[in-house]
Amino acid sequence: MKLDTSPIAAIATAPGRGGIGVVRASGKSLGALIDTLFPGTQLAPRHATYIPFKSGDGAVIDQGLALYFKAPHSYTGEDVLELHGHGGPVVLQMLLARVLEAGREHGLRLAEPGEFTRRAYLNDKLDLAQAEAVADLIDASTEAAARSASQSLSGAFSQVVHRLVEQTINLRMLVEATLDFPEEEIDFLEKSNARGQLGGIIESLEHVFRQAAQGALLREGLNVVLVGQPNVGKSSLLNALAGAEVAIVTPIAGTTRDKVSETIQIEGIPLNIIDTAGIRAIDEGIDVVERIGIERTWGEVGKADVILHLLDASLGPSAADETIVAAFPAGVPVVRIWNKIDLSGHRAAVEGAADATHIYLSANEKLGIDLLRAELLRIAGWQQTGESLYLARERHLIALRGARQHLDMAAQHAAQDDQSLDLFAEELRLAQDQLSSITGQFTPDDLLGVIFSRFCIGK
Ligand code: GDP
Ligand code: ZN
Repeated sequence: MKLDTSPIAAIATAPGRGGIGVVRASGKSLGALIDTLFPGTQLAPRHATYIPFKSGDGAVIDQGLALYFKAPHSYTGEDVLELHGHGGPVVLQMLLARVLEAGREHGLRLAEPGEFTRRAYLNDKLDLAQAEAVADLIDASTEAAARSASQSLSGAFSQVVHRLVEQTINLRMLVEATLDFPEEEIDFLEKSNARGQLGGIIESLEHVFRQAAQGALLREGLNVVLVGQPNVGKSSLLNALAGAEVAIVTPIAGTTRDKVSETIQIEGIPLNIIDTAGIRAIDEGIDVVERIGIERTWGEVGKADVILHLLDASLGPSAADETIVAAFPAGVPVVRIWNKIDLSGHRAAVEGAADATHIYLSANEKLGIDLLRAELLRIAGWQQTGESLYLARERHLIALRGARQHLDMAAQHAAQDDQSLDLFAEELRLAQDQLSSITGQFTPDDLLGVIFSRFCIGK
């Protein structure tokens, strides 16, 4: 994509009504725009100026605060102007239209989604992982997710990644320097404890990976489908699960409206639960319309991280249950939940079996609910470490995993008798590239510069 650096503007606050609403503009220089909007007024940088916002013909649109951030001391690193007016959709549209009109001759245009943050990244205000954290903080569906996103946004995640990159570069410098002096290779590596250093990097990387993988859980959550015949207690179970923890939850974007879907959280992990009421096996007898609905529901089941198959413990499985179970997609874990143990006389319990984990509980009597919660956390891979987590994305995990593989390869080369040092160095370079891609500071040829600036190789 061609880089378009013309000034941009947009409404920065959420649609709808609110006490205040903000129109934001960013550009290399907004002096002319400010002169047009507020003739004869100087806006002191970082000061709030209470001022009328006027249309081109001088009519007052609104009255509010104008804030001017002079480049580079702003969110985007460019000049930024914020107009804080009243938070109504019409008045904000009018304000935005006025700003666009006033800046048109200087190329001001409507901002694209994420463009303010993209500029912050391009101007080195944020690295890539931090820019992603901005979006994740805004999208966070639980408090724990918000806390971790804010942790990543503050740069804590980027810092540990940087440290790994630095350690890898240092080791690489050592190895590359040795390459030029083959007769000293072995000696050099022994003295510098290259293998020990590599082991240390791998250990730190593992630690970061665990924190990131747990953080990713807070972001992605677990997709759960609830399957069972009418009246076995699906809605009751959903309530029992949700009610166990006071939860600030919002529906996850993209869940369709025609299914009953609800997001609850267990220890901060969002569980997106879909109640597939009415699911049945696809057989000859059903009409086209019904078939489409049922196929879509089976599609959800196929995408689930776990299937909760609910049965009435006092009645046992029905014939319909057996046909459904036969249609379960392979590879998706199943928890078979025997509900209403208050009627059947079973005790609350978990039993492992070949086909599924079986849990006996009562939704109404709140018996065994904690067993189910623990099982869901186990399936999610949640380990409570008490450490602060980074709200990592799949992309970060892939890069960390990739780096780990290259470091393992490097370790193999270092362990061989003939010590293929050039391959060792190459694997370190690949690991470094993977790590750098997380923060976006991927600079393939930075190494030579580092070597020459820090290493006196021409001894
Ligand atoms: P759904 O159709 O699968 O969603 O089932 P509901 O949650 O609507 O429950 C159907 C009926 O079963 C309701 O009358 C519930 O009160 C009752 N029920 C649900 N769980 C239990 C339970 O653990 N014990 C008993 N005795 N009744 C339950
Ligand atoms: Zn129901």
